Amino acid sequence: MNKPVIFVDGRDALGAAAREFIDRPKRLFIGGAFTDSVAGGKLMSEDPASGADICAVVAADAEDVDRAVAAARTAFDGAWGKQVPAARAECLTKLAALIYDNLEEIAEIESLDTGKPAHIAKALDVPFAAEIYKYYAGWATKIQGRSFDLSLNPEAFHAFTRREPLGVAAGVIPWNFPFAQASFKLAPALAAGCTVVLKPAEQTPLTALRLAELVVEAGFPEGTVNILTGFGHTAGAALASHPGVDKISFTGSTEVGRKIAAAAAASNLKRVTLELGGKSPNIIFADANLESAIPTAAAAIFGNSGQVCNAGSRLFIEAPIFDQVVSGVRDIAANMQLGAGLNPDSELGPLMSQVQLDRVTGHVDRARGDGASVLCGGSRAGDSGYFFAPTVLAETTADMAVAREEIFGPVVCAMPFETESEITGLANDTNFGLAASIWTENIGKAHRMAAAVNAGAVWVNSFGVFDPNLPFGGYKESGWGREFGIEGIDAFLETKAVSVSIGA
Ligand code: NAP
Ligand code: MG
Repeated sequence: MNKPVIFVDGRDALGAAAREFIDRPKRLFIGGAFTDSVAGGKLMSEDPASGADICAVVAADAEDVDRAVAAARTAFDGAWGKQVPAARAECLTKLAALIYDNLEEIAEIESLDTGKPAHIAKALDVPFAAEIYKYYAGWATKIQGRSFDLSLNPEAFHAFTRREPLGVAAGVIPWNFPFAQASFKLAPALAAGCTVVLKPAEQTPLTALRLAELVVEAGFPEGTVNILTGFGHTAGAALASHPGVDKISFTGSTEVGRKIAAAAAASNLKRVTLELGGKSPNIIFADANLESAIPTAAAAIFGNSGQVCNAGSRLFIEAPIFDQVVSGVRDIAANMQLGAGLNPDSELGPLMSQVQLDRVTGHVDRARGDGASVLCGGSRAGDSGYFFAPTVLAETTADMAVAREEIFGPVVCAMPFETESEITGLANDTNFGLAASIWTENIGKAHRMAAAVNAGAVWVNSFGVFDPNLPFGGYKESGWGREFGIEGIDAFLETKAVSVSIGA
């Protein structure tokens, strides 16, 4: 039986705080208390670097969802709903500070649970989560209605809008950036004045439970935040169809996104936002700065082992520089250091699970059969854990499954193009529309392409520019709505138009 990879070079790589957390019981967080599931269900959190169990976690069932929704409703009608905006901002600010105070511990737990390098979680994922709370703490005190002159009878009415919190919000999140994703749901919902029931992915329950402890420390009234570790088909589905949930914000696969939208429609027409998959084009023109474009193209697909919704998985290269770019990306791929997340030398961790390893392997095998050539990687790396070698495919065509479906692994399809109009067609020949990168030194071409691609985020001479103030979300089957920025808080607010007769 494997053991979790906690020892690196004979040294225990898990700090004392993270180890104490792992040793504490992992229970549901409902109404401000840690509790067991009514039905007694459990799930096992696994270390993907070894396939070994880390610890058991309570799994919520439909009855627990009822309890959490009731607690969230009570808090919405009471303690949290009655807080003034400045008090909401204070709790969010405190939570951000507590995340920074516990940065190392959270990054280590995240790394063990997801396999991602701890140094990356510490430098990027966890601080970004803290910044999201800080950012939305600012918005809590800046929610405003507008006043209106009625077009038909301006003398007779004083009309204005109020922005009101939607009520009880559910968040259902994936396993690729668990702590950050939890924060993307909680921060705008809480700033808006909603209360929250959050369901983390079954594969990565741990940092959400650490977050629950920090929520207590930050002084949020009980029931404001409820965290239900558990399975999608039980707890997740119960949230999506629950009549007591006013809003569901989901991030994950397009397939489950459709189910959530259907369940919302069939129950109480709760509001829905969906952050779904992508098959994002990374377009490199011959005049691009290749010193920057080549390593960024590699980072765009291999970062987080390709388990990124906006991964640059379709690499389009103008024909004259095709060989140069492909060999540059292939050299980077071939030299990446794979290893357990807690090993400070690791650049890439494993895939999330056996399921994910099988899925990625299946995609690459099918691509081979369809006529793609594998320039490097193409299979599992090592024989323990779920590592997959960074993979560059060439001779892929737009009709192949590997070039159309989201793979969610470190696998890039490199494809040549000749003209600007051809690449516009190729880039948009997809059901997705999450992100696109464009590399050129020609400012006119950059702007023409930025306008022509159908994607919610366009990065020119860059990739993966995320900021709390910048809306992010998808065109087409990449989703509904936006996260971050003013759009992110709007998604948790209702607009009420009030018309007061003033007697004229
Ligand atoms: P997923 O099934 O969409 O899981 C995302 C979340 O939805 C998890 O919390 C999951 O619970 C929950 N869920 C599953 N079925 C549900 C249902 N019927 N009702 C409500 N909630 C439900 O994603 P996955 O299966 O882990 O990954 C599959 C593929 O999705 C990946 O290969 C990738 O292509 C894509 N994906 C995309 C993103 C993204 O950021 N856009 C993230 C992850 C995955 P469980 O934890 O129990 O499954
Ligand atoms: Mg795990």
